[in-house]
Amino acid sequence: MAPPQRILFPPEKIYMDWQQQWRAGAGLRNPGNLCFLNSVLQCLTYTPPLANYLLSREHSQSCHQRGFCVMCRMESHVNRVLRSSGSAIYPSAVISVLAREHFRLGMQEDAHEFLRYTVDAMQRACLSGISNLDISSESTTIVHQIFGGFLRSRGTFPQPLLSLELSVSFCLYFNMALYRAYTKALCSVSRCNKMVAASKRFTVHRAPKVLTVCLKRFEDFTGRKIDKIVKYSSCLDLRPYMTQTDGESLFYSLYAVLVHSGNGCHSGHYFCYTKASNGLWYEMNDSSVEDCDISTVLQQQAYLLFYVRDFLRGVVVIGLGGDGFKLKQGRFRLAVGKKVFTVRVARHWKRLPRAVVDAPSPTVSKARWDGALNNLT
Ligand SMILES: [Zn+2]
Repeated sequence: MAPPQRILFPPEKIYMDWQQQWRAGAGLRNPGNLCFLNSVLQCLTYTPPLANYLLSREHSQSCHQRGFCVMCRMESHVNRVLRSSGSAIYPSAVISVLAREHFRLGMQEDAHEFLRYTVDAMQRACLSGISNLDISSESTTIVHQIFGGFLRSRGTFPQPLLSLELSVSFCLYFNMALYRAYTKALCSVSRCNKMVAASKRFTVHRAPKVLTVCLKRFEDFTGRKIDKIVKYSSCLDLRPYMTQTDGESLFYSLYAVLVHSGNGCHSGHYFCYTKASNGLWYEMNDSSVEDCDISTVLQQQAYLLFYVRDFLRGVVVIGLGGDGFKLKQGRFRLAVGKKVFTVRVARHWKRLPRAVVDAPSPTVSKARWDGALNNLT
């Protein structure tokens, strides 16, 4: 792809880790059939890079849009929710813009459709008033830099990706569904019995900072629910599904799960689980916000999964030499003596206490690493 002619938002100003610690925010009132909207808004509110930006109020300070602006409304909503811990509020700021125009109030709507619409509306708000942009420049808004990536199939140009959709009909595991949909290595048998690469398969060409995945639970024509359990984990490496499969791991951490309970897409109930900036998980069910543990989160009939790039997770390569440890930032595998340990966190290694790298033996070293890393994460 051609490089962008214009950078609309500087990438170095996107903060992936929470810049402030907040308790879980307010619940969202539901006067009737708004659970699809409430659950999506809660997942977006706990999306760290988006929340950091909206909490800074940088958008509204420089917004020139006349009339309704989705970004201004989202900014006001997220600030209100996170500053109203322990209560329940009516998400009026967002409803008035989004639901009134495109979603029928009082009718159960599809949460994934609402998520896509909201992200798309935020992207359009970021582009408002700017004309004649090439596609590369359009992808430099803060919204596209957070949620957007690019997909590619063999021999075609990359196309924008805002969320991955996965068929769950044949898969018990989320990774398996990802593999079926997004690898270039899968082969099929041609008529002459030779193995040929499947040419229409997509790969992730550029990975997004925030990955949203829809497990397609509703049949296309009937809207009937596929209510099987699909197992997913709190950590994901996107590297095997990339166009370039060789290279460093691209780790993601789960931070929200949106669940549908019920039989079909126009009935039932949506609620979600989100990880707040204090690192704890909460079940958010309209006006109710209750704490819960990760094992509960991982046992749901998930409809949408939200993952955020985790630059801290990795494998460290460390050698034990005469001078102690040599640590190479970026690749992280801890080899102590003949043992290799996989450890988390690398970016803050300089903040590790000196005692960790000066350990007298592999066992002491491993114990000190574990202790130090636990304090960092
Ligand atoms: Zn605005």
